[in-house]
Amino acid sequence: MTSGGHPARAEIVVDLEAIAHNVATLRDVVAPAGLMAVVKADGYGHGMVEVARVARAAGAEWLGVATPEEALALRASGDEGRLLCWLAAPGDAYGDVLAADVDVAAYTPAQLDEIAAAAAAGVPARVHLKIDTGLSRGGATPGQWADLCAHARELEESGAVRVVAVWSHLVASDEPEHPANSEQAKVFDWAVAVAEEAGLHLEVRHLANSAAAIMRPDLRHELVRCGIALYGLDPAPGVTPDIGLVPAMTVRGRLALVKEVPAGAGVSYGHAWVAPAPTTLGLVPVGYAEGIPRAASPGAEVWVAGARRPVRGKVCMDQLVVDLGGDLPEPGSAFVLFGPGRDGEPTVQDWAEAVGTINYEIVTRIGGRMPRRYV
Ligand code: PLP
Repeated sequence: MTSGGHPARAEIVVDLEAIAHNVATLRDVVAPAGLMAVVKADGYGHGMVEVARVARAAGAEWLGVATPEEALALRASGDEGRLLCWLAAPGDAYGDVLAADVDVAAYTPAQLDEIAAAAAAGVPARVHLKIDTGLSRGGATPGQWADLCAHARELEESGAVRVVAVWSHLVASDEPEHPANSEQAKVFDWAVAVAEEAGLHLEVRHLANSAAAIMRPDLRHELVRCGIALYGLDPAPGVTPDIGLVPAMTVRGRLALVKEVPAGAGVSYGHAWVAPAPTTLGLVPVGYAEGIPRAASPGAEVWVAGARRPVRGKVCMDQLVVDLGGDLPEPGSAFVLFGPGRDGEPTVQDWAEAVGTINYEIVTRIGGRMPRRYV
């Protein structure tokens, strides 16, 4: 509601109880492994600080973010628990991150040197060494691994760093039986053995994201890094077993206008859709500036007056048009772009499928001028 008591023109509503429930559910599923709640990218669009607070209260032992800025924002919000930041670039402010008691990731000897140089005297930087087990993204290749471990061990001797983890990321966790998972697991186990032979004493190993945490118990090790499942979204639609996750995000608001149009009326830029018969149209006051994909048309639907209504014509910067099929709800009537789906409204997954993307992209992009409200 706005201060005047009217529902907002358009808003993102985040159900924090759903997030608490999802965290508790995941902790039960993965126990005795611990849970790192991945809250990067503004909590996948749900609000990093608020999600982090709820995740901690629900028992998440770790938080995970990509950038140093995200880690520092969490510390500024008062978070004091274990927190890993895994995507610093050369020249980033390691000193600030380490002073804030954040764990950092390292992929190369040069990065280890940079971390060691930034560590305060007498306070070793806690480092998670990353092995590239096959994604060809971050991490040392198997060919570089022994040297990285040996270099880390030397720096441990100097007191500047302490290696607390070996970690990696999966190629195809959304296909739990994909051969890449077991191949990566083998490389991972080899990398852990090499690290231990080099004299590194690991506190945790972590490899699994949401899909693997739920579907590959053999890959959980001591810690799993869950993002999408925290938000109640399915990491592998059609594959993940139902563990009772509850979607946390609803995007809703009020129609800006309702109008009748004759057959032949062209709708929105370029008249990409022309009404084949007289109909009624509703103006939804969100557009691509709010992160609504232009590919939402044709295919996506919006919930208005108890039914799903197709998006018609091109999505504009600030608005889109839905076909009300002759119904004439009052202007100001509620619309729901997507929600948990309990009342029949489209879900994030429905939008992802209509647009040809994944649920992750829908929620992380949504925002723009829409306020976020927590319930
Ligand atoms: N770990 C890393 C390194 C990631 O980049 C991500 C997300 O992209 C995650 C874990 C969380 O993955 P998911 O959201 O599939 O649980």
